Amino acid sequence: MYDYDLLVVGSANADLVIDVERRPGAGETVLGGDLATHPGGKGANQAVAAARLGARTALLARVGDDAHGRLLLDSQRAAGVDTVGVLVGGAPTGVALITVDPSGENSIVVSPGANGRLTPADARAAVGLVHASRVVSAQLEIPLETVVEVVRNLAPGSRFVLNPSPPRPLPDEVLAACDPLIVNEHEARVILGEACASEEPADWARLLLARGPRSVVVTLGAEGALVADGHGVEPVPSVRVDAVDTTGAGDAFTAALAMRLGAGESLAGAAAYAARVGAAAVTRRGAQESYPTAAEVDALCCAIPGGDPRTPGRGSDSATGSGGQGGML
Ligand code: ADP
Repeated sequence: MYDYDLLVVGSANADLVIDVERRPGAGETVLGGDLATHPGGKGANQAVAAARLGARTALLARVGDDAHGRLLLDSQRAAGVDTVGVLVGGAPTGVALITVDPSGENSIVVSPGANGRLTPADARAAVGLVHASRVVSAQLEIPLETVVEVVRNLAPGSRFVLNPSPPRPLPDEVLAACDPLIVNEHEARVILGEACASEEPADWARLLLARGPRSVVVTLGAEGALVADGHGVEPVPSVRVDAVDTTGAGDAFTAALAMRLGAGESLAGAAAYAARVGAAAVTRRGAQESYPTAAEVDALCCAIPGGDPRTPGRGSDSATGSGGQGGML
């Protein structure tokens, strides 16, 4: 009935990365290593992650009519993403200028470029794509008004997933559509603002749920995640791995969660699978380059009692479950 398991509405950036001995101060020039150019942006990352896991995926985004735009289109197509919804022109492709020092600390300047020109009118014109998708996911590296327009045009019966990154206050109609709202610690604190006196992620989940989303997921890096809905707050076991680079882990997690929810899985079950995908992604360098196939996720051993039978995860001793299924909090 749906042409796509997942439509990602979001950003596409070229990440331009230079390793430096130290990051420059004001008025200073430093020499760095060779420039590395990677496809990135939260929307493009999520689409690649979902397609690599086998989901029929489309991307609604805007890139410039330039070499970075072509790089992004090529990387989406190579992963199997349908780029019919990728608009071209209007501004240069979004760029992230990243310098990384030997300790791994980075400084980043983002030029949103074409991402900032993905308008509500573009979202309205893509209503056919929105209606052809079982799940629609968005982030906030595009104008908030465009996300609002997508929410207004969702087909009845479809599901909307939002990772509010970078975080900002959200209108009630967007919050009410989220099923789930997916936040990391930083995003939870910004969205809760002064209401966030507690240091307990379970409290953040409850407070966020009270703002109107149908469900909430709080991701906690190596500690796994929490899911919350009308039934309560539940921990999602983390998967212990040797993390090499956590760039883009949240995007991989969100994409995996969205596609498994679309396949009819429970929130806790989909999040447990997404945690394996996030864990697999941090074992390799980069963002899109690090995203696993479904077979690689299945091979990632994780001892989750009562875990998802469709992802047996018994095959490698590179990872072990570090937290049992803890029941409601
Ligand atoms: P973000 O990248 O948005 O900050 P997180 O760092 O919380 O998001 O990562 C998203 C998910 O990826 C986590 O909930 C977890 O499942 C997985 N993950 C991230 N870092 C690690 C890690 N070091 N070890 C294992 N899993 C990780």
